[in-house]
This record gives sequence, C-alpha cells and structure tokens, in this order.
Amino acid sequence: MMRRILILILLFGGVLFAQSQVQNVNALRGGTVVLDIGHFMGGEGASAPQAVNGVVLRECEFWYRYAGVVKQVVERAGWRCVITNRGFAPTREPFASIAKRSGVLQLQKPDAGGKRTPSRYHPDRVGSGMVSADYAIWKRAACIIFLHLNSTGSRWTSGGRSIILCNHFNGHGLANSICNALNNEVLNHGMPNGGRGCSVEERRVDADRSAGWLNACDDSGIPAVVVEAAFVNNRAHAEYLTRDAGARAFAQAIGHGVVNFLRSDTTPRHVRENENVPDVGSFGYAAESRRLNVPGARRLLH
Ligand SMILES: [Zn+2]
Repeated sequence: MMRRILILILLFGGVLFAQSQVQNVNALRGGTVVLDIGHFMGGEGASAPQAVNGVVLRECEFWYRYAGVVKQVVERAGWRCVITNRGFAPTREPFASIAKRSGVLQLQKPDAGGKRTPSRYHPDRVGSGMVSADYAIWKRAACIIFLHLNSTGSRWTSGGRSIILCNHFNGHGLANSICNALNNEVLNHGMPNGGRGCSVEERRVDADRSAGWLNACDDSGIPAVVVEAAFVNNRAHAEYLTRDAGARAFAQAIGHGVVNFLRSDTTPRHVRENENVPDVGSFGYAAESRRLNVPGARRLLH
C-alpha cells in the first residue's frame, strides 16, 4: 500500500512539474516578439559602394522600410510584435512616415560613436545599443531579432558568409529556424549566394559587440539572434534587395523563421542562476574592462 501511495505521489509530482514547465514555455510564447532595427538615423551602419536600381542599400534604411513586413508575418500568425530602434524618430522622408506607419518604438538612446553602456538588468554585460536588449528583457519578450545587413568593406564583392548570430543557451532554435527559412525561400532561390547557405554562429565572448546584447538576453532566458545573412557590398544581394519584391521576400522569410520557431518550440528557457558568477561571456568583458572602463559596468573578475 505504502509503495502504491509513494508511486501516486511521484506521478502527481511529475505531472505538476511537467505542467509548470509547459506554463513557463507558454508564458514566454504568449510574449511579444521584438524586432530591432539595427543602427540609427545619423549612424546608419554599412552602405553599398554604389546605387543599384537607383537606391544605395543601407542597413538601417533598409530595415526601416522592411521591418514592417516581418512584423506583419508575425502578427498574422497570432503573436504580438513591436519594432524598436535605439535612435530618435527619423525626421527626413520617407523614413519619418514609415516609422509612424510601422509604429516604430524609438528608444532614444543611440549610443552615438559606438559608446558602450552596461545592461541595466545585467550590468556585467556591455555593448553599444544595449537599450534594445534591455527593452526585450523589460518586456519579457518571447524572442528578439536584431535586424542587420552585413558588409565586408567598401568595394563590391561576391563573397561573405551568410550567418545568423545567436545566444548560447536560448538562441540556437530560433537561429536555425530563420536559417532554414532563408535557405528554403531566398538564398540561391532568387537571391544568388554562390550556392552557399546560411549558417548559425554562436557569439558569446566578444562582449563589447553584439555578444553583449545576446548575453544580456540569454541571462533573462530570451532567445536572441542578429541577422547578418545578406551583404550590402555583395552586388547580387544589393541587386535583389533594392527591388521591392526581393526585399519583401527576404523580410517574409525571416518572419516565417520566427513563426516556425515559436510554433514548434517546447524547450524551457535557460535563465542565468547567479549574477555574481562570471561566465565565458562576462570573463571576456572582464578581460577588457580596464581598457574600456565603461561607467556603471560591473566587473566580476579583476
Ligand atoms: Zn549592422
């Protein structure tokens, strides 16, 4: 009899535990998807060497135009979605109107000149543009996608590796899903890429670049990726992305990747257990902390 009761208790406990896991995942699933437009007006990021189809492809401008397309895909699939940008509202057209129409949330902290700031939630994480990661953390976002275009320099090339950068604990599923969508719908299917596909790259140590955002999100259990799948100085990419149909297909594929991930993902999120224990990422920061000397940043190693 005792054995039977014990088994019942264990079974009941197991069910409760499983339920709380599912609830955790569902709580995050119900959360908002954050799409962050990389860079800001006045610091637009990388530019193409020349105009193609009458447009100079610039990463920040591109994403002001097309983040709304990603958002539409996500919202139609039933998730809330917010577009953020770390800068101030654009004043020149057409971007001023686009920002209003897409409801871009201007976080008004561009960190001009690459100025680095610590995360207000995980102050050993440091980066330029950390305010967007902090917004996702405050919002308890389902995931965040930092929207960028890549560049290998100021001349045209046909090279460059299409990658989705992701955080260590929580980002691989999301990154894989976006890679798959880009590979199935865009790369080498309309957008020439020399037969090369997109790949996932974890970034964890270089905390004074995008790894700072990824690590901060990881600490709070948020899947985070940086899209670096197309190159402004790859002429074939520029040719494709400066045409409205191509740009939309690219943005839609990213949206499909996000939605496919949210629909199928059941893994519980990993949250940092102890803010006082440095990990690989914060060690990377600590090694540079004296040189960088960022006000307000926390050193875990000396
Ligand atoms: Zn960028």
